[in-house]
Amino acid sequence: MLSLKTLEKILKDEPPFKLKQVKEALFKHLIGDWNEATSLSINLREQLNKEYPLFIKSEIFDAKEEMVTRFLVTLDDGLETETVLMRHADGRNTVCVSSAVGCPVGCLFCATGKIGFKRNLEAMEIVSQVLLVARFLKKENERVDGVVFMGMGEPFLNYDNVIGAVYIINSNDGLNIGARHISISTVGIIEGIKKIIKEPLQINLAISLHAPNDRLRSEIIPANKKNYLKNIMESVDRYIEATNRRVMFEYLMIDKINDSLKDARELVELFNKMDNQLFFVNLISYNPTGVFRPSTTEQVKKFKDYLTKAGITVTERQRFGRGIKGACGQLAGRNIFSAK
Ligand code: SAH
Ligand code: SF4
Repeated sequence: MLSLKTLEKILKDEPPFKLKQVKEALFKHLIGDWNEATSLSINLREQLNKEYPLFIKSEIFDAKEEMVTRFLVTLDDGLETETVLMRHADGRNTVCVSSAVGCPVGCLFCATGKIGFKRNLEAMEIVSQVLLVARFLKKENERVDGVVFMGMGEPFLNYDNVIGAVYIINSNDGLNIGARHISISTVGIIEGIKKIIKEPLQINLAISLHAPNDRLRSEIIPANKKNYLKNIMESVDRYIEATNRRVMFEYLMIDKINDSLKDARELVELFNKMDNQLFFVNLISYNPTGVFRPSTTEQVKKFKDYLTKAGITVTERQRFGRGIKGACGQLAGRNIFSAK
């Protein structure tokens, strides 16, 4: 989808309230065709349909029993990206968006990392994923309650477009989704963490930790060689100081790789100086991608108990989307058509 600047350019000779009406039609009424915007003149509707088409090409993979719907989105240049709607047990609907086609980081455990990197997404290409799901939910009289940047791509390696999208998703004349319901997950790109401190946004930050020391982390997350744990933890400290917001550390439970009690002990040491109130650890069950095995339930419990006893708050990520070959956070890469 084209940028909002293009939309402003199309409307530059119209009175300012027209742009307001147009944005309302797009973001509030969630129209899929400008002809639905009856407050606009027929001429303008025709022009907009030609110069700013609203159609978002996508294919839907529904797994109702799992409360997950996957959208394979075809971008204007023919490349494909993915979006996931997760319906939570409490009725909230969260959209997991992609920020790129593929990912340049290449984490060993990640399906996206395996397919390599095609390109970053533009801000409106990210926003349009939320629009697509919002239009889909509107048919059921439901709405999007939250957005997580946990799809394909590393958000902080596409900082400007990601933050540009966040502002549109959050703003009153955009999708109007509360910043507290928007989360960015990063593999720990220090520059991005430093930059986000300066944004006047109350969004949530999640750090994909997955290992308690640099030796192991560099083995499974190539980006660690440029973003050492000590520096990540320092920038997270500064983020917490500046924003007073609670940070989530994600930790994948991979059998015999990072799930021993020695790892748990090192993890506790890593968090040693941090205020337990201002962070929590989210243990993620590993969706096998052909490289490692998920930790046993028993080991996850032992690991969790160790951290809890040390005073750390621990949660476990709800499992989403196993049956349709992909959870939020490890999209694409595989032959998605086999999911039909
Ligand atoms: N690039 C960002 C955001 C996208 S990945 C990041 O790495 O944080 C979102 C989350 O899914 C990350 O925590 C990532 O480590 C996790 N993830 C990747 N592969 C996974 C897999 N096979 N099973 C479960 N979670 C996975
Ligand atoms: Fe990229 Fe995140 Fe996957 Fe690593 S886990 S390859 S950073 S999408």
